[in-house]
Amino acid sequence: MDEKLLRRDVLQRGAAGVLAVVGAAACKSAPKALSCADTTSLSAADYQVRTTLAYVDVSTEPGKTCSGCQQFIPGEPGACGSCKVVKGTINPAGYCKSFVAKTT
Ligand code: SF4
Repeated sequence: MDEKLLRRDVLQRGAAGVLAVVGAAACKSAPKALSCADTTSLSAADYQVRTTLAYVDVSTEPGKTCSGCQQFIPGEPGACGSCKVVKGTINPAGYCKSFVAKTT
């Protein structure tokens, strides 16, 4: 009886260990979505422009993203950029009503 309990205990702990390793590996490999939605440093006026132009961190308009807009100023690779119109951090995958497609 004690041996059965011991065996079950070892198996349960082993399974928990395997799950922990698999979970940690999954967390490392999952790409972290870029967020450029922090508006805490904006003035009230700049925040108003951002909301009036309906800036969103992820575009809902097919083929229209900040990275393809004339107003976009890229940041470091994989980081937020900025915009000539909308103040604050701008996601390359974002969008707002002032989108103007790049011509070059
Ligand atoms: S104008 Fe709008 S769509 Fe263009 S880069 Fe700025 S926030 Fe993005």
